Amino acid sequence: MKKLAITKILCTSEVSQAEFESDVLDDRYEALREDLVALLDKHGFEYQSAETSFLGFSKYSLVRCQQCGNYMTDRHENPAGLEGVSEHEELVYQGATHEGNQLCEMCLPEGHRWALA
Ligand SMILES: [Zn+2]
Repeated sequence: MKKLAITKILCTSEVSQAEFESDVLDDRYEALREDLVALLDKHGFEYQSAETSFLGFSKYSLVRCQQCGNYMTDRHENPAGLEGVSEHEELVYQGATHEGNQLCEMCLPEGHRWALA
């Protein structure tokens, strides 16, 4: 039976306020789209669409886990996390400050309130 394969690709870029407010970002998106169209075509895929959303680092207490580098929101600083804010919660891990280090849910010690295990 023939099937339509739908592949979702997520990518991130840290954007300065100046870039956010300028046309530079639009130019980067257009260049990325053009390259993606060519790359996807080369591998038998057809580009369909892209959507970009923005999360403020300070507003949502976003940091990189000091152990693994995953993006995380420090639930001590942002108790509400990203629930209802972002549809990409799978990209930004839960985390907390533990013994002076900001660690994501994967790196926090077992049994910690925000640890996965
Ligand atoms: Zn981590």
